[in-house]
Amino acid sequence: MDSKDLIILEDLYGAKNYHPLDVVVSKAKGIWVWDVEGNKYLDFLSAYSAVNQGHCHPRIVKALTEQAKEVTLTSRAFRNDQWPMLAKEICDLTGYEQVLPMNSGAEAVETAIKAARKWAAKTKGIPQDQSEIITCANNFHGRTITIIGFSTEPLYRKDFGPFTPGFVNIPFGDTEALEEAISPHTAAFLFEPIQAEAGIIIPPGGYLEKAKEICEKNNVLFMADEIQTGLGRVGKLFACDYENVKPDVMIVGKSLGGGCYAVSAVLSMREVLGLFAPGEHGSTFGGNPLGCAVARESLKVIREENLVTNAAEQGDYFMSKLATLKSRHIKEIRGKGLLIGLELKEEAGGARRFCEALAKEGLLCKETHENVIRFAPPLVIKQKDLNWAFKKIKDVFKALD
Ligand SMILES: *Cc1c(COP(=O)(O)O)cnc(C)c1O
Repeated sequence: MDSKDLIILEDLYGAKNYHPLDVVVSKAKGIWVWDVEGNKYLDFLSAYSAVNQGHCHPRIVKALTEQAKEVTLTSRAFRNDQWPMLAKEICDLTGYEQVLPMNSGAEAVETAIKAARKWAAKTKGIPQDQSEIITCANNFHGRTITIIGFSTEPLYRKDFGPFTPGFVNIPFGDTEALEEAISPHTAAFLFEPIQAEAGIIIPPGGYLEKAKEICEKNNVLFMADEIQTGLGRVGKLFACDYENVKPDVMIVGKSLGGGCYAVSAVLSMREVLGLFAPGEHGSTFGGNPLGCAVARESLKVIREENLVTNAAEQGDYFMSKLATLKSRHIKEIRGKGLLIGLELKEEAGGARRFCEALAKEGLLCKETHENVIRFAPPLVIKQKDLNWAFKKIKDVFKALD
């Protein structure tokens, strides 16, 4: 079947909860993907940072296929030989004491919320059903009812209520608002250190450090969602490392599964995760040996291929190239490491038409909201490929100017 037929099938039988570019991918390797007709594209989105190690990384595929021949799923009713190894390795890498494994990012965020409420009830002594979690405007933490309940994006919420109570919203990047929002019932502050889905919004310098200090002073858990920013994307292992703050609770996902398998996790101290008792939380697939084997190799690839350093270096290089881009449509270019947003002016006619034009040139980018184009290639990318991508971007901006 060709691309046209597949698009017709998808739109007829599939729920239309996405608005994809009409590129039907049937093969991928490293930073490149190919469509059904054999056209080649550079992937400049990396599945929202889930394929940071590059598509079908040979070592990760090998870990996946070898583990698939041994044992794939036991459920946590029994133990398996991969989960303890991942648990130790990820704690060693990140400096946390314990980890709770899930699958999707949203599940890990839900887990962190449950952990915070548990801690509030058991340790902080907040009365049952009265704890509050502070979240930020323009957040993106996933798509469950609880999570969209504290979203400020009308599109994510409308028609899906009623929502879970217990959340307080404040502006992002505003430590005074955080201080004011804290009450004796506050369990946690949940935030993204850089708001990626909101359009690569970077808070003012010193924000994380100050917010951490406020949380510490008030005995409030500082909970970072680094599902997209973490594990190297922004040029440090975690975005919080830029301000040397260590969150009490760290949420990871996406590239933890190396683009091969859905693996997410919540990391924290024993004081928090140690409060879960058997039966209080779980997931049939969370911690399964197949996912754990993939995650172990995904972390090894990040470390051994120096992807964090490469993201920092290539990110700086690409930002310097982008700074030379001249177009009346550009409002701002911002980013850290290889998480870069190009914001267009209102009158530019929206980011979508730029992404469509770029796709025709062989560069796959996706708009976030109306006016931001996200540049986020796999972290294995090299300078010569960035030069290639930059030329395409330059051409498209020239053509659409
Ligand atoms: C993608 C993302 C999530 C949700 O992850 P899913 O695997 O799609 O459920 C949560 N938080 C952030 C910051 C994300 O980028």
